[in-house]
Amino acid sequence: MAQRRSSFRICDLEVAPGERGATELPAAQLYTHTQLNIPLQVVHGRRDGPVLLLTAAIHGDELNGVEIIRRVLKHRAIRRLRGTLVAAPVVNVFGFIHRSRYLPDRRDLNRCFPGSDRGSLGARIAGLFTREVLAHCTHLVDLHTGAIHRSNLPQIRGDVDDEAVADMARAFGLPVILGSPPLDGSLRHIAGTRGVPAIVYEAGEALRFEEQCIRAGVRGCLSVLRHLGMLPASRRESGSQQWEPVIARSSQWVRAEQDGVFRTHVALGAHVRKGDLLGVIGSPEGEGEIDIVAPAAGVLVGRNNIPLVNEGEALFHIARFDALGEVARGLEDFQSDLLEELSDAEPPVV
Ligand SMILES: [Zn+2]
Repeated sequence: MAQRRSSFRICDLEVAPGERGATELPAAQLYTHTQLNIPLQVVHGRRDGPVLLLTAAIHGDELNGVEIIRRVLKHRAIRRLRGTLVAAPVVNVFGFIHRSRYLPDRRDLNRCFPGSDRGSLGARIAGLFTREVLAHCTHLVDLHTGAIHRSNLPQIRGDVDDEAVADMARAFGLPVILGSPPLDGSLRHIAGTRGVPAIVYEAGEALRFEEQCIRAGVRGCLSVLRHLGMLPASRRESGSQQWEPVIARSSQWVRAEQDGVFRTHVALGAHVRKGDLLGVIGSPEGEGEIDIVAPAAGVLVGRNNIPLVNEGEALFHIARFDALGEVARGLEDFQSDLLEELSDAEPPVV
């Protein structure tokens, strides 16, 4: 007979096996001395297993992940969880209340890890989060979106040279994986250096709720939980899927070669060939137009959404693949599958 699993302790919270709990990590104060807290949710399964940390809004205006975490926590499958799920849906609370990517001192919290008690505001919040939250977890999925006025095709980023990371990235189940070493100071970076396999999910645009990105994210998080043995394997899984996630060989940005008004007819996920016309930049009256063409074959995994651009501005993000046909097939199947799927009785956001 197995011993009863012990309670899970994080911050001032103690959660018994089979229970849920919520607490707040005191991150900072407003000028008014109003306390500003990072909300935390814990689901502690009855049986042993990994401790998966789900984070969102580390860039305070990136909202799809906030809704993804809400839906994951409500999902009925979570009742059968093995191991422990720790969710921090709003890491950058300052940015979240100001609808901003940054902290009040204009720092990017996702460049402040591992942080310290004696550094900047960002360093202190990062230090607190590393010590009080990350240190208790064994795996990380960090949820992001594109920046303001930029959309990302749902994609996973991770250091795929690390086998555990590559396995998690594949398990998320998206057609596109960008293998990339983490940026210095990011949560993903510090997790990696501490032996916590970490992936980043990127989807959609800042300051929006986008149903497709949210559904893909919920489904991906549940798939990672299954992959880690934290949920039982799904019945509908394996066999029916005709494609495999593909890791990009490299990626590059296509930039504006002049200032002006920008028009494009190419959507995210489009498969482009070298030399294909991606868009046009000219004066508001249509004078002095120049073509923007694809510098290489690939898939559009990111794009600018605002038609007013300056020279040098990033317009398109193209990921290059050896198995381009496989990616195109995967994207097509994936998108139609996602539209059909009823997301566990959640009314879609439109
Ligand atoms: Zn982000």
